[in-house]
Amino acid sequence: MNHDRVEIFREKLDNFTISDYHGLISPGLTCYLNSVLQVFFMTEDFRGSIKRCCSEDSATIDTVLRKLFDDLERSLAETQNIIQTLGITDVYEQHDAAEYFEKILCLTSPEAAKVFKGELSHKTKCAECKKENNFRSSFWILPLAMENSYRQTYSLKRGLEAFFNKEKVCGENKMFCNQCKKKQDADIDCEMTQNPEILTLLLKRFTFDYKWDCYIKLHCEVDVPQTLHIENCEYDLYALVHHFGNLSGGHYTAEIKSFETGEWYHFNDDTVDRVRQPLFTSGNISAKSRTAYLLMYRRVSTHPEKN
Ligand SMILES: [Zn+2]
Repeated sequence: MNHDRVEIFREKLDNFTISDYHGLISPGLTCYLNSVLQVFFMTEDFRGSIKRCCSEDSATIDTVLRKLFDDLERSLAETQNIIQTLGITDVYEQHDAAEYFEKILCLTSPEAAKVFKGELSHKTKCAECKKENNFRSSFWILPLAMENSYRQTYSLKRGLEAFFNKEKVCGENKMFCNQCKKKQDADIDCEMTQNPEILTLLLKRFTFDYKWDCYIKLHCEVDVPQTLHIENCEYDLYALVHHFGNLSGGHYTAEIKSFETGEWYHFNDDTVDRVRQPLFTSGNISAKSRTAYLLMYRRVSTHPEKN
């Protein structure tokens, strides 16, 4: 065969899409749900736990998810049962993917959901009497504020550092001190006391704009690193949920690196395509995105505690 014909043949092969994965039929505008369901399906430990679940316990969503995962392994799948279980009555009403991500995890058995679960410790210290207060809370998602990023590129690394930065509260934000029996200035410190196996970050693109007195969507570019270091753990990005469009109308898709093939795929409702130009080609340690909304990082290693 001559060179041109080889090229034509190669091009045809490249355009011939046989995906290793299957899509989800959207009965309306449920892309917010489909994108997070695909993330759950493509998370190895979560899929494993759901597939092992054998009880017909109706208190959790596990059996409904297992049926969906079984379907997804074979063909294009439907989400009617999940929609019903979640109590979604209007499939044409748009919702927030992050909200449904948390909703599903709250309904899942603790054994399966624990891979996404982390714990934070919040420490407050009264500036006057120095009394410390400590409380812990668990989380599925860490929300990162993006308010100051109207024009410049938002750095996810710096955003995450800011989340854990010591903060001083004073003026209108004073905290009530039990010992002083009045509102005082205070130091607030937030620390991750339990690193989740899967760390999910939310870029707060939907935010209230005090200048315009309304909710807006921030379209700013985000610098997404492939690897994150938190406390003594290293995390590797394996999934992104994108939001396209604006507040009143938009579309969610998911971009996920398969633990089975090592390739990136783009999940867009009923279609799944292999990503031809992955975000992180060799040598790239970060990527820019204007649509990334949720980011999932998998813990790859734990370093020995630094002193
Ligand atoms: Zn005090």
